[in-house]
Amino acid sequence: MKIPVETPSHQYEVVIGNRNLTEAVATIDDKINKADKLIVLTDEHVWAAHKQTFTDVFPYDFTVHVMPAGEACKTFENYYAVQTFLLEQKATRKTMIFAFGGGAVGDLTGYVAATFMRGVPFVQIPTTILAHDSAVGGKTAINHPLGKNMIGAFYQPEAVLYDIRFLETLPKREVRSGMAETVKHALISNKQWLEQLLQHTVYDFKQQELEQQLENGIRVKADIVKRDEEEHSVRKFLNFGHTYGHAIEAASGFGKVAHGEAVMIGIVYALLLGENHSKLTHEFTKEVFAFALRSAYPFEAVHEFSFDELLTYMMKDKKVEYGELQFVLLNEVGEPFVQKISAEEARQTDARLRALLQ
Ligand code: NAD
Ligand code: ZN
Repeated sequence: MKIPVETPSHQYEVVIGNRNLTEAVATIDDKINKADKLIVLTDEHVWAAHKQTFTDVFPYDFTVHVMPAGEACKTFENYYAVQTFLLEQKATRKTMIFAFGGGAVGDLTGYVAATFMRGVPFVQIPTTILAHDSAVGGKTAINHPLGKNMIGAFYQPEAVLYDIRFLETLPKREVRSGMAETVKHALISNKQWLEQLLQHTVYDFKQQELEQQLENGIRVKADIVKRDEEEHSVRKFLNFGHTYGHAIEAASGFGKVAHGEAVMIGIVYALLLGENHSKLTHEFTKEVFAFALRSAYPFEAVHEFSFDELLTYMMKDKKVEYGELQFVLLNEVGEPFVQKISAEEARQTDARLRALLQ
């Protein structure tokens, strides 16, 4: 299956399938043939699990560089180490870089590609469910000790080659984390799809069904970035669940609660908040909450922080404008909108979330 992503700056395809990497790579062989060298950036977990398969099915010669896993690859130190590696390898503006890994590898690789010699082509080969979101749309970034994803660029890949065989080794926590973004995509776009999702837990989707879920999510994302590549308008809707979610993720020091796990908590928070501003009911919030509990999202993390701590993090969010909190809410499933929210209303909603968790 191929999904076109057409942004004003670049057009490319997401190719998704099972055991399809060789064919997927062939869809960009004209671009690969123009490259003087292929460099694969990956992380230690992904390479330990998939070195053999990747080497067997990737149909070109390549040089690999293995980085620390998770957020550790999005540091200045690792960014520097990778640029050094590229220079040592005598990479040029014609060198093509492949990100083989999850969202962290993708974000780092994209930013390296955006900046090495003012920009070299790169390709995403995602290995997490979460990366159905992060690999599409061209947001690339590394972290600063004072803030996550603070240093980055919009830089689109040449292609996203998604072979879901690599997802078979994902730990449950990463399945949960990635599926939260799928639930988000359903909530902001399509009631029928959401209802179907809510009947399951996040672990129920295998092969064909999982591929279908990811394809649905990618279509939502592709449609939004086509309309608003650099987040001036509708791209903000993709932040549904992220304001409170980011605060939980940041307060827990990035890593203890995975990105998507925190987003699911933020989704329930945003639904509670939305009850005052939309047609959605408390019954609906409880339905989504029950699904999230069945899927073992770590809501207990909320108890580790006071609202004031979370508010400090929410106020640091890149999306805060003129010192005001902004939340994406849903008028209905599939009808997101942006709403300014007072700190007092945010506090009351936090109290309602804590009451729900009792
Ligand atoms: P990740 O890349 O850190 O992967 C999570 C963990 O799973 C890591 O330990 C990794 O080594 C391991 N892993 C990856 N693939 C595996 C596999 N197939 N089998 C076994 N283990 C595997 O994280 P992620 O959840 O994919 O992405 C989160 C990152 O993405 C964050 O840094 C976040 O800021 C970023 N993000 C970016 C965007 C964007 O638009 N650019 C959107 C959402 C999130
Ligand atoms: Zn996210």
